[in-house]
Amino acid sequence: MAQNTTETDIQFLPGVGPKRAELISKELGINTIGELLRLYPFRYIDKSSFVRIADARPDMAYVQIRARVIRTDLYGAASASAAPVSPDTADPVKFNMIKRMSVLVGDGSGEMEMVFFKGIKWMYGKLKPGTEYIFFGKPSSFNGRINIVHPEVDPVPAPTAGGNLSQAAPPACPSMTGVYTSTERLKNAGITGKMMNRIMEAALNRGLGGFTETMPEYIMKQCGLVPLHFALRNIHFPKDMVSLEKARYRLKFEELFFLQLSLLKQKYVRSRDVNGISMHRVGEAFNKCYESLPFPLTGAQKRVITEIRNDMKSGTQMNRLLQGDVGSGKTMVAVLTALIAVGNGFQACIMAPTEVLAQQHYKNILKLLAPTGVASALLTGSTKASERKQIHASLADGSTGIIVGTHALIEDNVIFGNLGLVIIDEQHRFGVEQRSKLWRKSSCGAPPHILVMTATPIPRTLAMTLYGDLDVSVIDEMPPGRKPVQTMHATDGKRPALYKFMRDQIALGRQVFIVYPLINETEKLDYQSLEAGAEEIIRHFPFPPYKTAVVHGKQTNDVKKFNMDAFAAGRADILVATSVIEVGVDVPNASVMVIESAERFGLSQLHQLRGRVGRGSEKSYCVLMTGHKLSKESKHRIELMCATENGFELAEEDMKMRGPGDLEGTQQSGLPVKLAIASLAKDGTILNAARDCAEAVLKADPMLEDIRNRTLRQELKQDKYKIRDYSKIS
Ligand code: ADP
Ligand code: MG
Repeated sequence: MAQNTTETDIQFLPGVGPKRAELISKELGINTIGELLRLYPFRYIDKSSFVRIADARPDMAYVQIRARVIRTDLYGAASASAAPVSPDTADPVKFNMIKRMSVLVGDGSGEMEMVFFKGIKWMYGKLKPGTEYIFFGKPSSFNGRINIVHPEVDPVPAPTAGGNLSQAAPPACPSMTGVYTSTERLKNAGITGKMMNRIMEAALNRGLGGFTETMPEYIMKQCGLVPLHFALRNIHFPKDMVSLEKARYRLKFEELFFLQLSLLKQKYVRSRDVNGISMHRVGEAFNKCYESLPFPLTGAQKRVITEIRNDMKSGTQMNRLLQGDVGSGKTMVAVLTALIAVGNGFQACIMAPTEVLAQQHYKNILKLLAPTGVASALLTGSTKASERKQIHASLADGSTGIIVGTHALIEDNVIFGNLGLVIIDEQHRFGVEQRSKLWRKSSCGAPPHILVMTATPIPRTLAMTLYGDLDVSVIDEMPPGRKPVQTMHATDGKRPALYKFMRDQIALGRQVFIVYPLINETEKLDYQSLEAGAEEIIRHFPFPPYKTAVVHGKQTNDVKKFNMDAFAAGRADILVATSVIEVGVDVPNASVMVIESAERFGLSQLHQLRGRVGRGSEKSYCVLMTGHKLSKESKHRIELMCATENGFELAEEDMKMRGPGDLEGTQQSGLPVKLAIASLAKDGTILNAARDCAEAVLKADPMLEDIRNRTLRQELKQDKYKIRDYSKIS
């Protein structure tokens, strides 16, 4: 056998063999015993507890039922109505004709059906009428009755006299059984849950010795971690609940610790190796803009600008993530930051994800720049060729100080004379590739400072883990004078009342947004519902006196802009739109946001949309229209929206419900390392403890040269920690 047993191919495990090994490799990406043992159960079944048939429900994940076989029926056709083939006749059963077997079982509380479409011959021979078995599987509902399709079947164990004398280690606690990720193809190949447990047991016996401890002794002591061998044994075959908890904690900690250790180390190396542009001055333009702001900055805005300012003059490259709820005033911070770059003789570029948003930004920015005399321009996909040429030239010769734009800014023919700062609004709409292109546009030797702005607030440690080694600033204070937005939930029956409410608001001089979901830009149905909705609105709000503007992604940019401007300028009372307005427009006079089919939006999207109202001095409203029937999750989302306006709270709930991988804003950046056991959403406490520990280790030994940290250095050499350089992608 190979020296290092963790490297041994799984095909040599009893019960696996070359064919199954190949399938496991294909389905789960696992090739060696070491990899197999790092596949942890995602759940445990307590095999000592049973559900009564009378209590089984189709919404239960898995149940274990102890019941007696009453009758077995064989059917020739897959259809449920076909008559059973009688097995009682003298003729031997022709199993190749049998399509389905139904086993009626009872446990005193009730009766239920176990259904088999495969392996019928074998199961038919195994299940004896009148005998008791243990059935395990997912209950489902068929024709109004509950059944289990393809349950696992075990004989009822005979009561054991005395203890288990076997000295072989697992299974230590037979009542707690691990459940592993599986696939249809694995199950079809006979790799059932039970089989998996058996394979794991063999893998442990063979491979555990090959694992060397990854955590140094001193950290295990400090952080209360159990040894790796104990953890691996107990995660697969828990001795008891306490041991399982200890094993879990250790493995989660280890996973989060190494992820953060690698990120922090990289950050350290980068700040040591990469020079940043040192921007010492604040500059005249900054001061002029600051003095003529229409209102004082909030404390949070001031604090964030100080943090940014310190980065920019530090001599190392800034890589900062700015989080701030919708309406918290990020634009102001962006402009003042851009002016610092200009004041030091550099160009700044502000990128927005959509044409509409870029235009909106530019309009606001022009106002703020007016007193400064700084030259700026807007570059988008619809900029005319002649103008585009001019802008390109002014960027190359450095005469344009601040450029605002969309993806058009990252085209290859855009060259900057001396780009010193890149600001990206709503970073998740930009792919990693696109961002790296911007980075390479710098021609002044050092990389530009990077400021990424997002309105999807997530907890700080989590942000740092998700966004690599970005520093994080938070605007946690709203500008004064923002009125709370009253949020209500309504279904179709309330439509007349909604229209009356809208008329009342319009009579008061306010404007109304109506937003339709657009899940997929090409999805015909979405446009149909938008068009039907717009027609209905125009029917109920006829011109004159009402004016309705419609905006959606299929219009040309000119039409879109025309309609949007009409609404922004107050020439239209109602804007019917797809979610293109989500990250855009600022219309302080709009006081009502109606979201149609609100159940189809995610929490953070709903929150973003709601942020479009409540910007003026009037009381504002958000109405969530939904169908009558809501899934449990949709209902929860709607309730949360009605209950709170706090973006952080909503984001945390969102994460708990969907997991961080799905969080809007994190999909593209994703996690650098796939987590096998820890959850960023649920293991916040462990995440923080692991981060603190990683920080302390690196503070004392930045390059992990200390002999005590030898195993840490070894671990980080793995491929999965060779994380792309974040400074180049942000
Ligand atoms: P965000 O981009 O963070 O969603 P904006 O920058 O668009 O928010 O700002 C939202 C609104 O608040 C704008 O109308 C802006 O003029 C206003 N605003 C920004 N900062 C302040 C402040 N310090 N005091 C009052 N109003 C502010
Ligand atoms: Mg904004």
